[in-house]
Amino acid sequence: MCGIFGIDLHEEASAMTYLGLYALQHRGQESAGLATWDGRQMKVERGMGEVSEIFRPSVLRRLAGFRAIGHTRYSTAGSSIVANAQPVVVMTGMGPLALVHNGNLVNAAQLREELEAQGSIFQTTSDTEVILHLMAKNQRDSVVESLMLALEKVSGAYSVLLLTESSLIAARDPFGFRPLWLGSLRGAPCFASETCALDILEAECIGELEPGEVVATSRDGQVERFMLPGRAAARSSRCAFEHVYFARPDSRLFGDAVSQVRTKMGEVLAREQPATADLVVPVPDSGLFAALGFSRASGIPFEFGLIRNHYVGRTFIQPQQEIRDFSVRVKLNPVRELIEGKRVVLVDDSIVRGTTSRKIVRMVREAGAAEVHLRISSPPTRWPCHYGIDTPNREDLIAANQSIEEIGRFVEADSLGYLSVEGLLSCLSGPADTYCTACWMGDYRVPIGQHHPRQRSLFPIETESYA
Ligand code: 5GP
Ligand code: SF4
Ligand code: MG
Repeated sequence: MCGIFGIDLHEEASAMTYLGLYALQHRGQESAGLATWDGRQMKVERGMGEVSEIFRPSVLRRLAGFRAIGHTRYSTAGSSIVANAQPVVVMTGMGPLALVHNGNLVNAAQLREELEAQGSIFQTTSDTEVILHLMAKNQRDSVVESLMLALEKVSGAYSVLLLTESSLIAARDPFGFRPLWLGSLRGAPCFASETCALDILEAECIGELEPGEVVATSRDGQVERFMLPGRAAARSSRCAFEHVYFARPDSRLFGDAVSQVRTKMGEVLAREQPATADLVVPVPDSGLFAALGFSRASGIPFEFGLIRNHYVGRTFIQPQQEIRDFSVRVKLNPVRELIEGKRVVLVDDSIVRGTTSRKIVRMVREAGAAEVHLRISSPPTRWPCHYGIDTPNREDLIAANQSIEEIGRFVEADSLGYLSVEGLLSCLSGPADTYCTACWMGDYRVPIGQHHPRQRSLFPIETESYA
């Protein structure tokens, strides 16, 4: 999963992009990068870690320019190394090009093999680079045309931003898996994965790109719009899991406010999977709004029975002495005074492997809860995502292998209930068949290739050249 941001015709383009990425940090904390164009040169910075660690003031000064794109990464294809950090930047006959990508291409490995057989030299193991090689092979006077030719050959999920000498170009795949917004910052066109990144700049949200839409900025601040030919045959497949978990609750997405959708999911969950209890407690932060909805619909009081430490960085020193369930303990702590002796409905957004959920249920019980009823505001995750969310293989998805009763026993809950697929879709304002539900139903609308790009996860060259 990733967050992308771009802006054109703004004298502080790199600072605006930095702020946009900062607001999108929840979409990926592994690496981040930024590329700018100053009318003469393309400048790039990429690094491992979080946005505020990488872009120090001196770095942003070096990146001065009036057009910029940026990326914050959570790897889905390709390994976690700085060589795979984006933007991917190349020199072509059309000038320098920088690309950022949110999503996952399902035919990247096949395309890469073909391109390598024809002599292409790749710099990364990420699926994204394939798009630039396809562009280099299909050069046109118009970079938009070259990009559209390349995008016709790739399949899967992509929201991309391309920085060129003359324009900033945004594209969303014909199925529309991943979000992408067009905004305007006092006349400067900008693009962002989520509206929270436009809000931080006080930019106006103009609208979401349509599935299959390509938008290119021009020198006068206007935009030109195109449609990928693949749109005609594609079915809209907007990722419903963005609403369940991934997006920030203060964003709007696919025509709905995320906070409202999550609250509704909790309300429907309370009707589908009622519980007799004294308290509704969210697992922060992912369960907050659903717990609120569950409480409203059931009439059971809502309490902040678990407190989250927000300052858990990527590296903290683990003590030698064993502390049980340490990984969860450092993040969450129960409020004993609220929980003791109470029958608790614990609300979270999803169960993937089940191991975190089990630790949280244990923790609440050890804080004195009389009963723990776990309620999940999405259906059982039974299938891996191939469209850009980093879910584990099927073997590791607990709901792919065990019944709901078995999962309930595994997580040590007194009862377990999930939201149904119909219930989930009823919380979204669009027609049910315009959303992807593959991780719950297995109904993959873009066929997944035989070679999943993840198979090539070892980067055979180790380098620190641009860390
Ligand atoms: P589990 O019990 O399966 O080990 O963990 C469930 C928790 O993982 C839930 O709190 C849910 O919010 C969180 N979760 C769901 N999807 C993702 C994801 O893609 N990445 C991360 N880091 N956490 C996730
Ligand atoms: Fe989203 Fe699930 Fe579809 Fe992946 S499989 S795009 S997570 S709805
Ligand atoms: Mg969570």
